[in-house]
Amino acid sequence: MPDLVIHQIPVLGDNFIYLINDPETGETAAVDPAVAGPVMDALAEHGWTLSHILITHHHPDHTGGNMELKDATGCTIVGAAADAARIPGIDVRLNEGDSISIGSHGAEILDVSGHTNGHIAFWFEQDKALFSGDSLFSMGCGRLFEGTADQMWTSLQKLRALPDDTRVYCAHEYTNSNADFALSIEPENEDLRRRADEVVSLREQGKPTVPSLLGEEKRVNPFLRADNDDLLQAAGLVGRDAVSAFAEIRRRKDNF
Ligand code: ZN
Ligand code: FE
Repeated sequence: MPDLVIHQIPVLGDNFIYLINDPETGETAAVDPAVAGPVMDALAEHGWTLSHILITHHHPDHTGGNMELKDATGCTIVGAAADAARIPGIDVRLNEGDSISIGSHGAEILDVSGHTNGHIAFWFEQDKALFSGDSLFSMGCGRLFEGTADQMWTSLQKLRALPDDTRVYCAHEYTNSNADFALSIEPENEDLRRRADEVVSLREQGKPTVPSLLGEEKRVNPFLRADNDDLLQAAGLVGRDAVSAFAEIRRRKDNF
């Protein structure tokens, strides 16, 4: 089975749209199409036809292109059953544990609510690819607009349980500022310092810092480390349970 082809489209300053193509069947999905134009251009450039739109959550910078793309291509729009009322043009409603296929490549649906209620992630296990939307970022996580710290920590623990060699395709290029914050929490974390340096150099070359490797996120992302002794020590949170430590780190980031 040929590998999925994943094409990254930077839009709106700091959003990423992804096109995922199964070369065998030609099925092609757009993940979180904020806008339609750049998706249509990239499809034409590759000679691909859009079969699906995969939506992680309802925010306009993830769904803004839905209706224009559906009108132009007749594609099927897939999103969370729990948030179907807020996802323009939704056709297929999914719950945690459901799966969806692009050609012969299957993705499992994980409920990763917290940023919004009804936020899902698409985990292509065989392809070692996770589309995490605004739940998990490189060295960061989404703001708690609708959910609680408890809910977001539960969501992030699900993502943390995935294999280390999973590539994390998140929806925003926020890595530079996330690194600054992470270093303010754990200045002595050597893995973090190395990743922060790498991020600076990638950005200087105008390159994306996404995808990142989940195994590395587990070592450097403060929001995946709310139960880690080194982090708790560095952040002055020894003795806190994970949810309250997570809530405090999220609060500090909101005020950073
Ligand atoms: Zn969002
Ligand atoms: Fe967003």
